[in-house]
Parts: sequence; structure tokens; C-alpha cells
Amino acid sequence: MFETISAKINNLIKKITGQGIITEKNIEEVLHDIRMTFLEADVNYKVAKEFIERVKQKSLGQIVLKSLTSEQQFIKIIHDELISFLGDKNSGLKKEKPLTILLVGLQGSGKTTTAAKIGVYLKTEKISEKILLIALDTKRPAAREQLKNLADKNNFLFYTENDDNFLKTAENAYNFGMDKFCDAMIFDTAGTLHISEENLDDLKKLKEKIKFSEIILVADAMLGQEAVNIAKNFNEKLGLTGIILTKVDGDAKGGAALSMKYITSVPIKFIGTGEKVNNLNLFHPDRIASSILGMGDIVSLVEKVQKTISEEETKKQFEKLKKASFTFDDFLTQLKQLQSMGPLQDLIKMIPGGNNLGNIVIDEKNIKHTEAIILSMTEKERVMPEIINESRKRRIAHGSGTSYEKVNKLLKQFNQMKKLLKKSAKEKFNPFKNFNF
Ligand code: GDP
Repeated sequence: MFETISAKINNLIKKITGQGIITEKNIEEVLHDIRMTFLEADVNYKVAKEFIERVKQKSLGQIVLKSLTSEQQFIKIIHDELISFLGDKNSGLKKEKPLTILLVGLQGSGKTTTAAKIGVYLKTEKISEKILLIALDTKRPAAREQLKNLADKNNFLFYTENDDNFLKTAENAYNFGMDKFCDAMIFDTAGTLHISEENLDDLKKLKEKIKFSEIILVADAMLGQEAVNIAKNFNEKLGLTGIILTKVDGDAKGGAALSMKYITSVPIKFIGTGEKVNNLNLFHPDRIASSILGMGDIVSLVEKVQKTISEEETKKQFEKLKKASFTFDDFLTQLKQLQSMGPLQDLIKMIPGGNNLGNIVIDEKNIKHTEAIILSMTEKERVMPEIINESRKRRIAHGSGTSYEKVNKLLKQFNQMKKLLKKSAKEKFNPFKNFNF
């Protein structure tokens, strides 16, 4: 859905990646370009403006976390804002029995298809067992027939009446559903080609007649900002509980999805990704934000680092680094923290582009060896590794069950790392960045 935005934002991010420290100037430049990208993708101009403003404020006010590069933090800010614009957490459908869903929307938006899709979703997720589809389009027999076919194919109950009075039909349908102990009833309504006051008035009467758990607008994503406008109108009249954006498979821009929540305050609950009954997906703002940024799961990585390495500990070790007093004990602490984040292979996958490094095999055994070597050192050796002479190396190798070469290699790497860290201590703090396991 967001192919256009994603491709462009990825290029913009590449532009700043590698620059290390983010300055006000390059934030401004990138944000200007992101705004243009949003507008080209048919995102509402107010949304684009507000988005840029929020990212700017947060980026400039951000305290740099020393264990991550600032590009990553900048990307995380963009990611978090994308989520907030897309609608935070999706809580799905209300958990009521019976679950009564009213589907509204323009003709051709995908209501009938979506009614069946919701039924299939409820059944596969084991939320409901006995599902009733109700056709209320009194004017179009073909629409009723279409829903009946879908109901038959998927083993759902079906109800309609050949009667002009859709309010009466709806009431009878509800009573039928109750009699049959249905735990979900999905009401498919008549839609007009354009927004019509008469149609909205009819739907309002229906809303007053039956207590619906959900009133959901089915809107065609390909209509872009027009879909947002439609949602605004329907919401003002009916008080929507959610939106289902259909035909996102044909919409490369994603402008409607990005503007919908901010402009209407109504959450997108599902997206339709094709014509088949199983082409309905829960709308996950967080996953969509990650995919827009093409960043793998960078956000989880940042959060893991934030959670695992306490700010206080980071500061303490950073101070030590500046004074060049970083010892093997500190190294061991870092190693433990790294391990507590989970298998390294999984962490690598979360790094932008990390998925492409598929064949790199991290030998976790080497880390265990490193740990064993450090643990075989005396306290003094850990703090003053320069005293480790040939015979001490042999003793450590023996004690750790490794080899003289391995001990030598670790000492060398540690020294190199210390030098590198001292050099870059002012910019960032990532002791493992240049460390070759
Ligand atoms: P209604 O008039 O609102 O009931 O719309 P329909 O359910 O009859 O759908 C109109 C057309 O859109 C049909 O050809 C559907 O197959 C198609 N359609 C519905 N949802 C999707 C979707 O998510 N993706 C695609 N590609 N087509 C869809």
C-alpha cells in the first residue's frame, strides 16, 4: 500500500545514514523532502504539516542515547510518529455476544465482499461460531443475491426480505439471529454512488432501531483523500466505530490510510487486500510503520537496547571510556547485556539491511569462549590487561578450556577496541561496533 512513500523515505534515510550526528540542518532538509513525498502520495496537507512539525520537535529535543547512533533515533522518532498517525494499537472488533456489525459505505466500496470477509475472519480466529449475514439493500436484488452466494459458500446463515422497508427487515433479521443463537450478525446496507443525505438519514434510523456493537465504514483506499472526506461525512452523521479500507492491493500511495485517523479520529480496523474472502488483514500501525521505513525491525532493536542497557549504566561506562579505564569487567557486563537481548542472529536481522546479511553465521560459541577467558583472569588482570604476559596467557587458556591463540586474539581485539572507543567516545558509545567475534 505504501510503496511510493516507502521507496522515497528509504532513499532519504540513506542520505542521512552514515553522517553520524544529526544536525538541525539535515533534519530540516530530510523533513522537507518527507513532506513533499507525503503530498505526492496524496496525504492530507494538514497531516503532512503536523507530522513534520512533531518529528522536528522531538528530534531536536532528543537526548542522544549513547549506545545507538543518532540516525537510528531519528528513524525511531519518525516510526513512532507514523504509528501515532496511523492509529496506535488496533484493538480489533468489540468483544460482544452477539456481535452486531453494521457496514456502511458508498456503492462499489466493497461492503458485500467485506461482510463475507469479516465472517471468515471471525470464524478462523474462533471469535464467532454461528454467523449471520444480512442483506438490507432493498433496491438491488443482485446485491442481495451476491451476499447470499457468499453466505452459502462459507456456511454462514443468511437473511433478507423482498420488502422495501429495510428497517423492518433489519429488525426481523436481528430477531432471526437471536432465535438461531447466532453470535455474530453482519448487516450489509445499500450504498449510493455519491454521498447522499437521504442514504445517511436512512442509516441513522437503522442505528436508532438496533443496538450495533460496531458501525464500520467500508471505504475504497484508491479514492485517496476522497475516501477521507467520505469517512468524515459518515462519521459526523453516524458516529463510526471503525473503518475498513478496501482495495489497498491496488493503492500504491497510502494517502488515505495515513490521513484517516488524524482527520476523522476513527481508527482503521482492517484492510482489504484482494477480492478473495480471506483477503482481510487486521490493520497493524506498528508493522506498517516499519514496512514504510523498510527498516526491518529496527524499532524492536532500539527498544531492546533501551530496555536492556540502563541509562545509568551507559553513562557510567561512557565516563570510564573517556578516562580510558574501561576494563575486562566492564566488557563482561556489556557482553552479558548483549546476550540478554537474545540470539545475535535475531538481533542482526533487526538491523536495517540485516536481512540481506542472511548468510553470516554468528558463532555464539565464540562469545561463550570470550566469557570463559575473561572469567579465568584474575581481578587485577581484568583491570590491567597489560600485565598479562606469556605465562599468564597460558594459564588463562588452560583455565578457560580455550587456547593460547584465542587468549592472544581477545587481548589484541580488546586493545584495539579500547583505542577505537577512546577515539569515538565523544560521538557514540557502542563497544561492539568494531568488535569482530
Ligand atoms: P459494495 O457495492 O460496496 O457491496 O461492493 P462489492 O463488495 O460488490 O465490491 C465491489 C468490487 O470491489 C467487487 O468487484 C469486489 O470483488 C471488489 N473488491 C472488494 N474488496 C476488494 C479488495 O480489498 N481488493 C480488491 N482488489 N477488490 C476488492
